[in-house]
Amino acid sequence: MTVGIVGAGQLGRMLALAGYPLGLDFLCLDPARDAPAGQVAPLLSGAFTDRRLLTRLARRCEVVTFDWENVPVASLATMRRAHRARICPPVAALATGQDRVAEKRLFCRLGIPTTRWQAVASRAELTRALRTIGLPGVLKTRRLGYDGKGQAVVGSAADAAHAWEKLGGVPLLYEERVPFDCEVSIIGARSTRGEVVVYPLCGNVHAQGILRVTRAPYGPRAWQARAAGYLGRLLRHFNYAGVLTIEFFVRRGRLIANEIAPRVHNSGHWTIEGAATSQFENHLRAILGLPLGETRALGHSAMINLIGAIPPRARLLAVPRLHLHDYGKQPRPGRKVGHVTLVEASAARRDAYALKLLEDLAAGVGFP
Ligand code: AMP
Repeated sequence: MTVGIVGAGQLGRMLALAGYPLGLDFLCLDPARDAPAGQVAPLLSGAFTDRRLLTRLARRCEVVTFDWENVPVASLATMRRAHRARICPPVAALATGQDRVAEKRLFCRLGIPTTRWQAVASRAELTRALRTIGLPGVLKTRRLGYDGKGQAVVGSAADAAHAWEKLGGVPLLYEERVPFDCEVSIIGARSTRGEVVVYPLCGNVHAQGILRVTRAPYGPRAWQARAAGYLGRLLRHFNYAGVLTIEFFVRRGRLIANEIAPRVHNSGHWTIEGAATSQFENHLRAILGLPLGETRALGHSAMINLIGAIPPRARLLAVPRLHLHDYGKQPRPGRKVGHVTLVEASAARRDAYALKLLEDLAAGVGFP
């Protein structure tokens, strides 16, 4: 059985690595010849809009998934229409995740608390949004934003002018800047048969908009229950199949949805070693209509992203119980090139261990 993956980044790579023991085959599509998933699975190398390659992918695969949220919706819709390809997760979820305004509207419609926001298409609308929402805020592009790209913090009228210069020209969204106590994410899977599983809540630390550290399980039971409830609403709304993630800010115990990711998520990498079944395996099980695996945590996990370059392998592997994942990417400042995970018997031990490791990696990150 062959699974098609549109996008062959590290998420596609980890999907393939999780699928081989289940007896699955993979075929990926990506413009980059040296894409991480292409190093472990056959790769169709070309544009995401290349009709010939999309046809080949649709014909060769039982189901087609994606590993990048900015894959053109039209390409997937074409595969579905012209070749009756089965696309999972649903294209509607991808389309919503690609547009911050559509995402906010859906949160509001489903009663999921989110930030106060306004769509901004002109300088005059920005002035109006600043008046209604107030300062400080964040101006974000509606589309193509990830890892903190395409956004600017607005603390004053002068900042607003700079932000407009930097981002204006494309449709935008202005929202309040939440003075959050911490950030969390909830990850779950729904299978084509309607079975649902949810992972323990993840506590996430970002710096410069990029995820640095995830710890799980995280936070009180009440947060877990509320986040899982919100996730359930979205899964049902989309008649979803696959893994879905919601990221939240937490302010005084209130969960405020920031965004969704209709795919396996960076904050779920700890599940490879830290949960009974990884998010990657459960995504595959879900889209193939197979029984879902248990999501129970096996201990207290910390996942640390390796950004820019992989430190010397021998240095990392000398650390007891550390699991290394090298994505096979060329080093570049700000680029996620790998991650490490540790699973400890207690949260206190995990935190002490993770902080020491972060110091050694000189990542300059503390915990809330
Ligand atoms: P995003 O691309 O929207 O996920 O933003 C990346 C990160 O920037 C978030 O995880 C937060 O750490 C920070 N951030 C984005 N929007 C806001 C906001 N409205 N208030 C506070 N922090 C934010």
